[in-house]
Amino acid sequence: MDAAVFERYESQVRSYCRNFPAVFKTAKGSMLYDVDGGAYIDFLSCAGSLNYGHNHPELTKCMTQYLESDMILNAMDMYTEAKEIFISAFVNKILVPRSMDYRLMFTGPTGTNAVEAAAKLARKVKKRSRILALMGAYHGMTLGALALSTDLVSRQGSGVPLDNVTHIPAPYMIGEQQALDYIEMIINDDHSGLEHPAALILETLQAEGGMEVLSDSYLKAVSEICKKYDMLLIIDDIQVGCGRTGTFFSFERAGIDPDMVTLSKSISGSGLPMALLLIKPEYDIWLPAEHNGTFRGNQLAFVSATRALDLIQEENIFNETIRKGALAEEFFQNEIAPLDGRLIYRGLGLAAGIDYIKFDPTGAFAKKVQGICFKKGLIVERVGRQNAVIKILPPLNIPDELLLGGLGIMRDATREALG
Ligand code: PMP
Repeated sequence: MDAAVFERYESQVRSYCRNFPAVFKTAKGSMLYDVDGGAYIDFLSCAGSLNYGHNHPELTKCMTQYLESDMILNAMDMYTEAKEIFISAFVNKILVPRSMDYRLMFTGPTGTNAVEAAAKLARKVKKRSRILALMGAYHGMTLGALALSTDLVSRQGSGVPLDNVTHIPAPYMIGEQQALDYIEMIINDDHSGLEHPAALILETLQAEGGMEVLSDSYLKAVSEICKKYDMLLIIDDIQVGCGRTGTFFSFERAGIDPDMVTLSKSISGSGLPMALLLIKPEYDIWLPAEHNGTFRGNQLAFVSATRALDLIQEENIFNETIRKGALAEEFFQNEIAPLDGRLIYRGLGLAAGIDYIKFDPTGAFAKKVQGICFKKGLIVERVGRQNAVIKILPPLNIPDELLLGGLGIMRDATREALG
């Protein structure tokens, strides 16, 4: 088996496979294996959708049992036992202990589907069309979600104007206070051209935007601005939620109370597609079927999602994520930073990255490092401006040896690329 069939028949839109040109076959925990016996440490986790690793034995076990018992697999949004068990577990294990009150909306199965639903609902609630989003944001690929996203390569695929969104500078671009003042200025200035927005959406840590962490104080202030100006606050927790930063929701550290939250990627635990929009009850004003979809009832995903909520406790996921994040940063400071003073580490928990932009503003160096990493058996993705940031996004339960092994490969690849 080789890659020819993909190159001959699959669309040019192919993306990740171009950086990782192997044919993969099996995967376990934090490792991937190709058809030729090549082994790779996984620092990508399918963009954060495998927080518990590949084929976690407990998730495989409960899904296999479900499949072998002729349990229902797709039920759209009909009531099922699997969904009832998931909803109860999510409410009792995640929402109640955090004194949170949200309605759960099961959208189509991708992250983009949840963002699209959030944007539609915010506009419907406030009867206004404009939404504020941050420069550097990534919220998905359908037209509504793409309008919120900022990278030009993605946007140029739209074919139509991407409307009804105003992008505001992220705090790391112009300074925190300036970024906050900017929001109030364009809202208050009757010559800013801004129609009053319905909502503001953000990721608390911009992942595709370059592993940029927004501070607690910024998040708190934005939340206050939303209240002050009657705008809904939507947190897109699709990539950095589900424990990735050391708490279930990434915004817990700031003590804010968003009006809507999007979740996807690691919510099913197993990598099966599933997405959720959490909605403050007072804003749950959808008419029945007003936002519909066939694949909103992936029962097998509910089964693994329910078991994954137990794994959080059984594997001490939050504390381990924080500990391993510190371990990764320490490794960077001791072993990688000394290679060149311009390398920067950013992140929170196991959502981290090494930024090569100060070393090489074209991004070519980071691409070279990524290529060497792959040859040495490490899968890492590039994100951010010029794709100059190499992401460190392993499964949260990665053993220390593999975490340090992967970081060692990043060190060796950086050294080799430096020549
Ligand atoms: N929002 C964020 C923050 C994301 O990281 C992503 C995926 N990278 C999406 C939305 C879109 O999710 P999906 O690719 O499942 O549509």
